[in-house]
Amino acid sequence: MTYKLEILSIKILTHNVKRFRISKPNNYNFLPGQATNIAINKPGWRDKKRPFTITSLPGDDSLELIIKIYPEHNGVTKAINDLKTGDQLLLEESWGKLTYKGPGLFIAGGTGITPFIAIFRMLEQQNELEKIKLLYANKTSQDIILEDELSILLEERVQFILTKEDSSKYKKAYLDLDFLRHKIQNKQQYFYVCGPAGMTKQIGLYLKTMGVEERFIILDDQ
Ligand SMILES: Cc1cc2nc3c(=O)[nH]c(=O)nc-3n(C[C@H](O)[C@H](O)[C@H](O)COP(=O)(O)OP(=O)(O)OC[C@H]3O[C@@H](n4cnc5c(N)ncnc54)[C@H](O)[C@@H]3O)c2cc1C
Repeated sequence: MTYKLEILSIKILTHNVKRFRISKPNNYNFLPGQATNIAINKPGWRDKKRPFTITSLPGDDSLELIIKIYPEHNGVTKAINDLKTGDQLLLEESWGKLTYKGPGLFIAGGTGITPFIAIFRMLEQQNELEKIKLLYANKTSQDIILEDELSILLEERVQFILTKEDSSKYKKAYLDLDFLRHKIQNKQQYFYVCGPAGMTKQIGLYLKTMGVEERFIILDDQ
């Protein structure tokens, strides 16, 4: 089923990321962490579907999408950047395997944070948020999505890591084997990893090398 939904509001979150609130169909079902296919309801764009995560919660009145714009792709996100309140998106049923299984360490790169945002918001409502930690890697501090919300939600349990900026606030590091070995003592917990395909695969391999059982490793690419 494809739903025609109206953009209710747009907010700039970073230099290349925007938050869209859109109307929600009656009885639209999804689990926090899941994604859906989105297209723009304009001539020439309706068949160009791209996957995006729903960052709002199932009980919210509207749907929220957090979208990074890639002007250089000349694709859908560039066109999404030009959309205004009142424009329409086409949205399909939700799908995706990245849902919450139990306490653990979340490791995100860039927009890979989006499924975790929904999961963290759910865990906050359930008073379960103190059972998880987050490692969130970005190139620079300008790229961090929802830094304030994540800091408030997770307090000292979030560590922001920058790969391309020397900053007095956050550590400059790569999420390599050495880094993860120092960070991870408890291997009997879930490891949720979401980011660019190369990063996700590599971290999955590092975790296996460290002796984390496969059943505890949950990987998703963006
Ligand atoms: C399950 C899932 C959930 C996701 N959730 C989110 C989310 O919540 N938020 C988010 O921001 N993103 C998310 N993504 C990523 C998102 O789907 C992509 O960023 C989006 O599809 C890019 O669309 P695009 O049309 O702009 O670019 P593309 O589809 O990458 O490309 C469009 C055109 O640009 C060309 N192109 C591709 N790469 C380049 C390049 N490097 N340089 C120049 N041209 C290029 C292509 O050949 C194509 O013609 C998710 C992805 C997955 C798989």
